[in-house]
Amino acid sequence: MFVYGILAGGQPSYCIFAAHKKLSGFCPAINPTSLNLQPMNKIAMVDLKRQYEKIKPEIDQAISDVINSTAFINGPAVRAFQEDLEKYLDVKHVIPCANGTDALQVAMMALGIKPGDEVITTNFTFIATAEVIALLGYTPVVVDVDPETFNIDPDAVRRAITPKTKAVVPVHLFGQCADMEAMLEIAKEYNLFVIEDACQAIGADYIFADGSHKKAGTIGHVGCTSFFPSKNLGCYGDGGAIFTNDDELAKQLRVVVNHGMTVRYYHDYVGVNSRLDSIQAAVLKVKLARLDEYAVARNRAASFYDKAFGNHPKLKIPVRFERSTHVFHQYTLVTDGIDRAALIDFLARRDIPAMIYYPVPLHMQKAYIDPRYQEGDFPVTEHLCKTVVSLPMHTELDEEQLNYITTSVLEFVNQ
Ligand SMILES: *Cc1c(COP(=O)(O)O)cnc(C)c1O
Repeated sequence: MFVYGILAGGQPSYCIFAAHKKLSGFCPAINPTSLNLQPMNKIAMVDLKRQYEKIKPEIDQAISDVINSTAFINGPAVRAFQEDLEKYLDVKHVIPCANGTDALQVAMMALGIKPGDEVITTNFTFIATAEVIALLGYTPVVVDVDPETFNIDPDAVRRAITPKTKAVVPVHLFGQCADMEAMLEIAKEYNLFVIEDACQAIGADYIFADGSHKKAGTIGHVGCTSFFPSKNLGCYGDGGAIFTNDDELAKQLRVVVNHGMTVRYYHDYVGVNSRLDSIQAAVLKVKLARLDEYAVARNRAASFYDKAFGNHPKLKIPVRFERSTHVFHQYTLVTDGIDRAALIDFLARRDIPAMIYYPVPLHMQKAYIDPRYQEGDFPVTEHLCKTVVSLPMHTELDEEQLNYITTSVLEFVNQ
């Protein structure tokens, strides 16, 4: 692969991608739109480096303040971030913890769900959701998703309910909320807990039928999020949080994250050790102030992709759910009649990363094989696993990069 740059007078500098043509030496003036332009900034799936560079002084100061204070665990930085997040989400209680997986585990423990109880979740998601259900000795019950939004299908949830069902875990996948009014209605009817997995959707608004709004993760009994670096609100290590408006539950969540301790060195419950460290909290406080601005940047990139792919017969752009805003944790296309592996390979040769979220449904993961489920039982999820592809999505995508990505995808699908 030969890549070199042209610097035209007064023009932005472009690099010409010439994988198949052996170009060398100075490139004559060529109409850039007729070529594949390799952008100056290397394209990442998530570009944390360029994002950091823009907020470097503030982040570096925040980290150094924590180090100077030596209050590394449960210091004032954790409290300050917790309060900012409570305000931002308009929720009574934020309980910081070590990561999103712990958030889910602690939520289930604090709700008093018992081994043998069934917990329903979506089949099309990251493994963590089903993992904690299995680890705690509950029975994971997976259901199919809506083909338009990729989120848990309320009718499928209804069909999966048994006398043992104790909770349902909707995942707000890829940045938009699941159908929460339907979840709340089902929960009320069958006396279930609603545990929201908002790891991919922090900042998204659910819009109720009456026009009122609530933030993802604050709608059910309890909400969980992750601050993994690549998440929409990511720290520089691991982190997570649990949200609730229920005072009693908040008390129990704080006990569970802290070794089941009610009074110092008195342990009334079997708990865990799950803490957000102060340095991560300090980073998150700086980034939380920009979360809405970051969502705008992600939506701008999504609109650019939409415009390029919206009318293509072989590509289906993400469907916007009318009850939710979208914060585009991922921008995921459904492909139709194209060789997806060849597309990803084609893009990789142009230094464009693309990922499959997710390639295997939960019921077909080796660790979760269960005689209750067969291949073919979840047609929507299974179809999505075979056809989805996610393109680079982050806060720093520039027009040059977006142009290059869309032109390259279209070149492949049109060939
Ligand atoms: C990232 C993620 C998790 C787990 O978060 P960690 O902080 O990595 O433990 C759980 N559920 C979903 C849907 C996620 O995307």
